[in-house]
Parts: sequence; structure tokens; C-alpha cells
Amino acid sequence: MDTTRASGEAAQKGVARLVRPELLALLGYEPIEPVDVLAEELGIPPDQVLKLDGNENPYGASPRVKDALAGFDLYHIYPDPEQRRVREALADYVGVGAEHIVVGSGSDELLELIPRLFLSPGDTAAIPVPTFGVYSFATQVWGGRVVEVLRRQDFGLDLPALREASKGAKLIFLASPNNPTGNPVSGEELEALLSTGALVVVDEAYAEFCDCSFVELVPRRENLAVLRTFSKWAGLAGLRAGYGIFPAAVAELLRKVKMPYNVSVAAQLAMLASLEDIALLRERVGLIVRERERLSGALAAIPGLRPIPSEANFILCRIETLDARDVWQRLRRQGIFVRYFDEPMVRDCIRISVGRPEDSQRVLAALREICLAG
Ligand code: PMP
Repeated sequence: MDTTRASGEAAQKGVARLVRPELLALLGYEPIEPVDVLAEELGIPPDQVLKLDGNENPYGASPRVKDALAGFDLYHIYPDPEQRRVREALADYVGVGAEHIVVGSGSDELLELIPRLFLSPGDTAAIPVPTFGVYSFATQVWGGRVVEVLRRQDFGLDLPALREASKGAKLIFLASPNNPTGNPVSGEELEALLSTGALVVVDEAYAEFCDCSFVELVPRRENLAVLRTFSKWAGLAGLRAGYGIFPAAVAELLRKVKMPYNVSVAAQLAMLASLEDIALLRERVGLIVRERERLSGALAAIPGLRPIPSEANFILCRIETLDARDVWQRLRRQGIFVRYFDEPMVRDCIRISVGRPEDSQRVLAALREICLAG
């Protein structure tokens, strides 16, 4: 999802004729904009922007991260290409050996490394949609073919259709909990997909908000990979810090095909400092989870809104009586940024990241006004 047409047509002249033609036609990933750009677009001061469109952590990074970055003085030396200290610390955190772990510049980088390693042009990745748009983008960048399978009406996986689509597929990408629908994958669903023989990539970017994870299965399964990030629970989205847990042989190959110094010293330091401050970060996750439940209840009380139950740090909310894109635009005009997806099954929804209680108050007041005025 999150895709838009790349400006391909005009590019056939000059040196652009040398570009891989399939990339010129590719649908690119549409990222969210930073606060200063949004503020300038609306002509409002940055502190009036309420950014609930990126599932970022409103409480920021651990104070230990700032101390670690300020106290470090070897920024002129390349980072450890094998990421040894971070992998050891992550091994303790997730409970599997460091040989299973690969660290990336955000989990996005791992989402790009996996097709780099596995897909030859024309190979297939099966993807249940709606979901995070990078799976399809990264597959196509490497010349892979995407087979999308619509989820059921309740956003659960359509297992028979997904298993059928996975015949001959090399990769299956699943988010658990899923973005933007907020629902996790069950153990039975995962088993049914592992039995297809494809590499099943379970993206657990939001796992800390639901306390549900398949990481411990990885060492026992030859075709399961789990991706994690520090962007959401640990508030490090701007530093780009993610990792994946893979069968050891796959992890070794991924470390071989990645760029040598792919994770900056700053990101590595920040991950280590975060892992030394888990109690504080978990406390903040608890605040976000409580706020999610409160926000969900308050949304449900507004006529015409139907929040979908979520186990992540965002809520997908169906808008039953008004046009969802129009509501998204009206919120934007007030400096409140949420996400709208012009995609099957979610065109009548907006996705709201869970912020602090005062952030909820502001978005709820705006939605009440919009919905009651019609
Ligand atoms: N996976 C999912 C499901 C996400 O929603 C996101 C962020 N929007 C990511 C991965 C990317 O995370 P990172 O910041 O670690 O690249």
C-alpha cells in the first residue's frame, strides 16, 4: 500500500533510456513527510502540527540514548560491519543466539535485503493486503512478481487463497500485528503458511504493543524469518534501527549481501542504550497501550465512526457516514495528520497513530465536530 505512480513517462530520453525499464514503470512507496514540511505546507508553526500518521513514539527515545550519543567521540571510525555488540545484546533481548540476527538501517533495510538475496527476476512473493507497502515495493525493485491476496472482510488472512497464491512463491510477507489493520497472525495460520515451503517473513514491527511474537520459533524452523524495529516501541524512528531473526544460514548470507557498514555507529549506540533502559521503554509502551484502548472507546462513541480493534500503536477507524478522504483532508487543514489509504478494503478508513492523552483529546474534538456537522 502507500503507492503512487512514479514519474516514469518523461524519463525515456537521455541517460534515462539506460535505466531498467521495469523500474521506470514501478509504483514507488509514498512516505510520510516530516513535521517542518507539513507545517510549512499549512502555514502553521511546527508546534501546532499533530503528527499521528507515522506510528512514531510520542515519548521519544530513552534519555540514555541522548547521553550515549553525546558522550561518544569515535564518530570518525567506521562502525562494526558484523554489529557484534548489538547482536549480542539483541540475542539477550529476544532470546535466540546472535548467529540468527542481522541488524539493519531500520527494518526497511531488511525488507529490501531479503528479496535481494532470494528473488531472481520473475520470482514471486505472496502478500496478503491491505498491508505495509514496502513488501511489494522491495519485491518489485528486485524484479520480483507480487501476488496480492485480499484479506477477509474482518481483515483476517484468507488462508486457502493465500496458500494457493503461495504455490511456487519464494517469499510470503506478513505483518503481525498488521499495518494498517492492527490484527496479529495466529500460530495456526503461521504453521499453514510455513508448510508451503516458502520463506515466511513475519514483520513484528509492532510486537512490543501486543506481547505476541514468533521469534522463539525461528531457530527450530528452516523457513521462518521475523523482523523487528526500534522505531516504534523504543522511539528511534529517526535513527533507523531495525533487525531480523533468521535461520542461521540465511542470516550469514544476508550479512554477506548487505553493504558492509549499513548501520551507523549512532544507530548501534542507540540500540545498545535502549536495551539498557528497557524498564522505562516498556512503561511507555504501557502508556501507549492504555491510551489506545481509551482512544478506541472514545472513537466508538462518536456517531459514524467504527474503530477496528488493534494490538499495535495505531487504530484503523472506519468512517461510516462521511467520505474518509474528505475527513482526512479536513483534519489536515487543522494541522492534524493521520493516514488515508486509497486501497481496496480501507478506502472508508483513516489510520490514527496513538499519541499522548492530549493528542487524543485534540483529534477526538476535531472528529466530533466533523462528524456531528456532517
Ligand atoms: N514494518 C511495518 C509493518 C511498519 O509499519 C513499518 C513502519 N511504518 C516498518 C516495518 C518500518 O520500520 P523501520 O522504521 O524499522 O524501517
